[in-house]
Amino acid sequence: MATTETNSNPHSPLLHGEDLYRGEMFDNTIKLLDVAAKAINCDPNVLSRIKRPKKAIVVSVPVRMDDYRVKVFTGFRVQHSSTLGPYKGGIRYHQDVSLSEVAALATLMTFKCSLLNLPLGGGKGGIAVDPTKLSRTEKQNLTRRYTSELGTLIGPQVDIPAPDMGTDSQTMAWMMDTYSQEVGFSQPGVVTGKPIEIGGSLGRNGATGLGVVFIAEKALEKLGMKMSNITMVIQGFGNVGSHAALYAHQRGAKILAVSDVSGGIHNANGLDVPELLKWVTEHKVIKGFPKAEPISNEALLELKCDVLAPCAMENQISEVNAPRIQAKIIVEGANGPTNNAATKILHERDILVCPDILANGGGVIVSYFEWVQGMASFFWTEEDVNDRLKRVINGAFDKVWEIKTETKLDMRTAAMGSAIRRLERAMLLRGLYPR
Ligand code: GLU
Repeated sequence: MATTETNSNPHSPLLHGEDLYRGEMFDNTIKLLDVAAKAINCDPNVLSRIKRPKKAIVVSVPVRMDDYRVKVFTGFRVQHSSTLGPYKGGIRYHQDVSLSEVAALATLMTFKCSLLNLPLGGGKGGIAVDPTKLSRTEKQNLTRRYTSELGTLIGPQVDIPAPDMGTDSQTMAWMMDTYSQEVGFSQPGVVTGKPIEIGGSLGRNGATGLGVVFIAEKALEKLGMKMSNITMVIQGFGNVGSHAALYAHQRGAKILAVSDVSGGIHNANGLDVPELLKWVTEHKVIKGFPKAEPISNEALLELKCDVLAPCAMENQISEVNAPRIQAKIIVEGANGPTNNAATKILHERDILVCPDILANGGGVIVSYFEWVQGMASFFWTEEDVNDRLKRVINGAFDKVWEIKTETKLDMRTAAMGSAIRRLERAMLLRGLYPR
């Protein structure tokens, strides 16, 4: 039987075991693991191991700012599991980044890769910084020093970062260059989500948003509806939300409302997404877009629509607003946007929630394609990438749907159960070292 040591040191009560990572999102993830593990009758020794990340790295990142002062930021990389392959997951730049949040996101990555049948483990990194307050040079300095502090704890066969909130293909180019400079030769495989010119994959930039749309299409089909004839609300207009909006719009969906850091906008007749994208390129934010009215974030989430896609932050749908959600389907483009209590309420209300580890898996699927193409030095067409993405993500949807139908579990527990099952088998086959 597995045991977990408890912490009895009154002087450092939060310093070991699961307590080290305690926080809303991490606790939520652990509770979800417990419920899903029970549903699939998971081995207790396996469960006690997967509830804890394998490794957590905290680094100080001193940065020369434009005014010549040195500011020291805190960076993290949490490596949750490498049973199925190298650690894999994004790097987040946001002022609220903490060890706890990164640990929760790293844990979700393990189960995302497992569910999607990728030969990859799970990791996540981040720096507690507001990237909108940094100049380009400061951001570059920050990225390069963070990368060099991580040293060979990352690498093409070890741990492969990618973009996440607040980072992009340019950030990955700086990471790849810094790592390559330090090992002495070019190593494009150390990161994914790179610019095409230095070994990126066609289709990677829009992959998470496209995956959201593929999953929405599958869910709609199950409810007897079609993308060409629905209304959709999207929270968040970053990389994921803006691509999801565009691809859904191209397929005929009416996008009623979107939001970003500057607030929300609404048009009952549907937003002109290509025009909105042009507006955002010029103005940076959606605020002020002429053909729409402003709407609050709370009201946006509660709008009547067929599909609601939360593509912004975690913890947006809780027990407080879940009873008021009027969407038929929720497709989670963000990581952890719905807490466990809300998942239960939505399930009882018959609202179909396509969970994050399934719905936003498009990014890591195409990251995997990028890594494979890089190793083979043979690059595919965008059509090829998108076709393969569709096959992998739709296959995962079918697997989760089958479990949900058999067990009557909600989609999140079914997805997590399926992911745990694959990992459990691999862990039992590999065994514990030393025994
Ligand atoms: N940051 C993305 C995610 O949360 C992509 C990760 C990756 O491509 O490795 O899934």
